[in-house]
Amino acid sequence: MLVQKFGGTSVGSPERMKSVSSLITRGDYSGNIVVLSAMSGTTNTLVEICKYLQGGNPDGACEVIGYLEMKYAAHVEALYSTDKYKQAAKAVLSDIFNELRSITKAVFTPKEEKIILSKGELMSTNMVTFYLMEQGVNVCLLDALSFMRIDMNGEPDLWYISQRIGEVLASAPKADLYITQGFICRNAVGEVDNLKRGGSDYTASLLGAAMKADEIQIWTDIDGMHNNDPRYVENTGCVPHLYFEEASELAYFGAKILHPTCIQPAKFTNVPVRLLNTMDPEAPGTVIDNVKDHGTIKAVAAKDNITAIKITSGRMLLAYGFLRKVFEIFESHQTSIDMISTSEVCVSMSIDDTTYLPQIENDLRKYGTVQVDRNMCIICVVGDMDWENKGFEGRVMDAFKDIPVRMVCYGGSSYNISFLIRQEDKQKALVSLQKSLF
Ligand code: ASP
Ligand code: MG
Repeated sequence: MLVQKFGGTSVGSPERMKSVSSLITRGDYSGNIVVLSAMSGTTNTLVEICKYLQGGNPDGACEVIGYLEMKYAAHVEALYSTDKYKQAAKAVLSDIFNELRSITKAVFTPKEEKIILSKGELMSTNMVTFYLMEQGVNVCLLDALSFMRIDMNGEPDLWYISQRIGEVLASAPKADLYITQGFICRNAVGEVDNLKRGGSDYTASLLGAAMKADEIQIWTDIDGMHNNDPRYVENTGCVPHLYFEEASELAYFGAKILHPTCIQPAKFTNVPVRLLNTMDPEAPGTVIDNVKDHGTIKAVAAKDNITAIKITSGRMLLAYGFLRKVFEIFESHQTSIDMISTSEVCVSMSIDDTTYLPQIENDLRKYGTVQVDRNMCIICVVGDMDWENKGFEGRVMDAFKDIPVRMVCYGGSSYNISFLIRQEDKQKALVSLQKSLF
């Protein structure tokens, strides 16, 4: 039994809904659960509606609701060929849009916001379910709000989810295939809530863990244009296997890989995750599981637009508490540090969000001299890099022999070694690493 997740672009138009439907009904699909996101753009539009309501402009909200409704009406026309399912989909959507309109008349609180945000996934899953029914598939729509739950701390309650999904499946009509909503859930007091933006992967991972699925499949659309994406994970397309920890290290480099929070439930229940491409459905994809390939370097990822900050201070020598002061400055300006490298009198750090850089520089100058280098790029090499393995440091370093390196980070994790170089040297570094490692 598989849990398969398809994101917003995979269900982003009537055509895409049709191709996802044929993808999920290939071969033996009995018992599979398919998790769907909202149609691409819809959650953003729902956020926009909330902003109007927050700003006290219900008319503005209603106008956006009107546009969205027109868009969905056109989708319904294009998706179904029979009147029966066209009417069924129209009825569900009309209820949802009427509810949205009635919310614009109520007092707007975070509770209303969560209800509004939940509608995207409710619409997409209903539409795909009706389409599959029209195709003669014995499919059943499961209401994620009846089994997905977060606790008082906003963390998913895996124990509850495991209990409830069993009960929900037992009382649902017997079907060959189940569809459910990603992203949406209820909170500890039973109100509609969500797993934060992009949370559908998390739903799939939790559900796969709760069901002890044979595999959790995360399907994305990779159309070959991603080389221009600065967060593109070089090589994962052809990496057949990653250890969960390796995948966590790669996550920082872009959404093509699972977010670390999504990795946890699968890792702890030992359910493998497979990343697949809807544009190339026959390709085996990348499997992520608890099996470590000893001594193997797996992938190289790069991230642009990185800024390096170095603070040099004589006061740091043999002092304690200095790093805390430095880190507190970043914390007070809500800026996360990615790479860190220290010597006895210097600390170098990298950041990717430069919103508060002037303030950070100012505050750091109280403790020492500050140097900032912009337009840098992190190159991250991922694999089994346990310190007791020998030789790989030399191989990796060798690839950088003609490239100026600003920082090197190794030893924080056993699965990653990272280099900070000039952005303009990125291509050269990637080609050189490709040659020396693979
Ligand atoms: N629809 C939600 C979002 O756009 C969740 C998801 O797509 O994963 O963030
Ligand atoms: Mg070593």
